[in-house]
Amino acid sequence: MRSPILDYLDSILTATSGISSGETAQYIPELAAADPSRAAVALCTVNGTVYASGDADHGFSIQSMSKPFAYAAAIEAHGLEAVLERIGVEPSGEAFNELSLDPVTGRPRNPMINAGAIVAHALVDDGGGEGAGRMLDLFSRLAGHPLEVDEAVAASELATADRNLGLAYLLHAAQALEVEPRRAVTGYIRQCAVAVTVRDLALMAATLANGGVQPETGERVFGRGTTRHVLSVMTSCGMYDAAGDWLTSVGIPAKSGVAGGIIGVLPGQVGVAVLSPRLDAHGNSARGVEMMRRLSEDLGLHLMEASRPARSSLREVRTEQTRAGTATVYVLQGDLVLSSIESLVRALVESPPPTAQVVFDMSRVDEVLPVARRTAAETAARLIDEGHRIAIIDPESTVPRFQDSRGRPVDRWEGLTAS
Ligand code: GLU
Repeated sequence: MRSPILDYLDSILTATSGISSGETAQYIPELAAADPSRAAVALCTVNGTVYASGDADHGFSIQSMSKPFAYAAAIEAHGLEAVLERIGVEPSGEAFNELSLDPVTGRPRNPMINAGAIVAHALVDDGGGEGAGRMLDLFSRLAGHPLEVDEAVAASELATADRNLGLAYLLHAAQALEVEPRRAVTGYIRQCAVAVTVRDLALMAATLANGGVQPETGERVFGRGTTRHVLSVMTSCGMYDAAGDWLTSVGIPAKSGVAGGIIGVLPGQVGVAVLSPRLDAHGNSARGVEMMRRLSEDLGLHLMEASRPARSSLREVRTEQTRAGTATVYVLQGDLVLSSIESLVRALVESPPPTAQVVFDMSRVDEVLPVARRTAAETAARLIDEGHRIAIIDPESTVPRFQDSRGRPVDRWEGLTAS
């Protein structure tokens, strides 16, 4: 049976097929000559399942979609603080190839514009003979298979790199870039020329959606904190001077590239990637932006969409005979987060358990957030202080043991579980 998800992706391509505005990136000859009719869309879940439609195996250069990954690599290599000293996190509101420097600190405004991306590249790869080696290796691990530099694109861009060279020389003069400017730009351009498909990109984006773990190979490529930071910067700066429009209309962290690709990340759910080489006035794929807008709307991806409130943690309260006598049993469920555990705490506060023996049945609980753990532990401690005995049914032992207010673990009462 063909998956309806594939049919849906096909329908995205069909519905946007009439969009032919914009033109291919003219300042890089090899990109200017790209076939503008190419179009593809791919989606990868955090479980690693990829769905793709259109020219999904067509390779094109990653261009600026490499920037979030290179920035993440710089953070992993040097630590966040050291990187923040070199590159800011403020949207510039200017085009990607402007020399947007902070007037006070002299740092590039953010890592998603070329000035910041050249510095980020140089922080990972100083051009010491490895070329795009380190980045190529990183991108290959993110895509789940070996990638290659499109040498024709790299050569074409190197031959017309005056503007990026100009930025690098100015950065070098301002002591914002330590690596020799030509070396830094050569490495950065090779990073941008890595050839990918929308499938590869969907997996790379899904790694960010999955907190830094590549969903197919299970490899932790970036730390959780790094990933969250990078996604935040993508949200505010990823779409160049169209970032505000993007955030309101599409509403997911994203990055575009001048070869016509756009990646988007919905944290905890999916990575998406689209391709269509004609660019709008901001340098973003014109049809790609519309594909993303539709995906966001149809799949409910907008980050600011109020999500369904967490289900109450308290499934039911019942009285039961246990080996230790009559007990009040609280059956909990789902993820214990603050908003879901509130109903349990309220029930306990408003109508304290009538029996001395209290049982919490945690067998239906999935995940426990630290704040819920603290609140639950405090609630349990108060019950114990008021003379109740507590038992916890926890077959998988995935939940923490509570302690009473004197720090004694309550699983002393284990064995008093419901009969
Ligand atoms: N390599 C391109 C440049 O530096 C990347 C720009 C982009 O994709 O937006 O001009």
